[in-house]
Amino acid sequence: MATGVVNDRKTINVVRSRFIELLGEGPGSHGPFTQEQRNDFMLALVHQAVHLQNTKMTEPATATREEGLAEEVRAWREVNINVVRTLRAEGQPIHVTFREVDEAFRACGDRPDCRLAGIFDPHDDSMQRSR
Ligand SMILES: [Zn+2]
Repeated sequence: MATGVVNDRKTINVVRSRFIELLGEGPGSHGPFTQEQRNDFMLALVHQAVHLQNTKMTEPATATREEGLAEEVRAWREVNINVVRTLRAEGQPIHVTFREVDEAFRACGDRPDCRLAGIFDPHDDSMQRSR
């Protein structure tokens, strides 16, 4: 998924290939979707909505690497604190990356400057480790 501005409207773009990748391979990729698939899709949508709150980031192509990394950490932190932890407290299934990011934020006291390098690539919005 990606965010941007299309015809002056903030937009979340669900890229088909990424969506299929999110759903994984095999029989579950065409539904019915598992609870984890639904949760992961919801988390990805919320993540993109958080990006749209940052008006500077609606044109990510113009961001420097440092700005992009700071924005990714901001979005992951917001989603983690406000949504991932709620899902985990309820015992909801979520992708391992969300659990790893939550643990990383907990380890650094949820500071906005937490370094999450190695967990995700700031230029790759997929929820899995960069590949
Ligand atoms: Zn992002």
